[in-house]
Amino acid sequence: TVFLNSAKVDFDQKLDYSKFEEATEFTKYDDTVTDEQILERVQGQEVVITKEMSIGRDLILKFPASVKLICEAGTGFNNIDLDAAKQKNIAVCNVPSYSTESVGHLAITFVLMLSASLHLQQKMLDKGNYDNFSKYLQVPHYEVLGKNLGVIGGGAIGRQTIKAGLALGMNVLICDPFPQPWGDAAVQYVQLEELLKNSDFISLHCPLMPSTKHIINKETLNLVKPSAYLVNTSRGPLVNEADLVEALKTGKLAGAALDVQEVEPATPDNPLFHLDNVIMTPHIGWRRFESRQRLFNLVAVNITAFSQG
Ligand code: NAD
Repeated sequence: TVFLNSAKVDFDQKLDYSKFEEATEFTKYDDTVTDEQILERVQGQEVVITKEMSIGRDLILKFPASVKLICEAGTGFNNIDLDAAKQKNIAVCNVPSYSTESVGHLAITFVLMLSASLHLQQKMLDKGNYDNFSKYLQVPHYEVLGKNLGVIGGGAIGRQTIKAGLALGMNVLICDPFPQPWGDAAVQYVQLEELLKNSDFISLHCPLMPSTKHIINKETLNLVKPSAYLVNTSRGPLVNEADLVEALKTGKLAGAALDVQEVEPATPDNPLFHLDNVIMTPHIGWRRFESRQRLFNLVAVNITAFSQG
């Protein structure tokens, strides 16, 4: 087994790796950047572990016959070319549920932060404006009670976000091609257009696929209320960032909180960093201590299940 970018999961002295070590002998590289390095490092390996790396078609077709399994140490496997893997008879697995609660809780944290402009309140306080209370009153500061939470993608993480939203007294609009019963009058399945028009907070939880790339774009942003906020804890390319910047600058959208960006790691020249109504975090939804422990254990389960056929 080779772990191509182990730095991404922050091998940490405090985590217990024993199940992972029992499941397989492995070589780890902190970071593998180029395709040449990947090809060199997978030689003779049966299992290749990746974390949100781009493993495209051309690369997979050049993989040696020894490679039997690509194991994504994460939930989204949008970066791995599944057709090419199938063609080479390489199995691909992911870890679907290790950070479900964490990501859902981050999404609802963002909703609460945006509703009270907490990031702006802190910034103003940092600048020493403690006495100027009128300043604090000028930034948006609303309750979430009774507001509409629009969830695009009502799967595992979407459902955690919804549960938290319901606990806060929010009404929920869900858009998902596969509706599931909720048994709660505060939850309604709607089409995307209706969700965009009626939500106060729009939270993205669908996977990144060709059909969902740039699902938030100029056209869809034209439908939202100017007082609405966007939350993205799923994948950066679900949002056309240039269109988002434009909407935020022109007041078509009140603000956004983004754990994921179109290009990661986000570079300082990303215009989103320069907007007051934006909160950005460096793809941390999955990264809480307990989630990482679960991740290692579940990667071990995947490898063991594969080796046992
Ligand atoms: P899931 O498969 O349980 O749920 C995805 C849901 O999206 C499904 O219900 C599916 O029917 C729905 N969907 C598919 N196409 C859609 C569309 N066009 N419109 C609306 N809904 C659509 O997955 P999950 O565990 O909830 O994870 C969701 C995503 O979260 C992952 O794909 C991953 O990209 C992202 N994620 C991010 C982090 C992070 O660190 N920020 C961590 C884990 C997962």
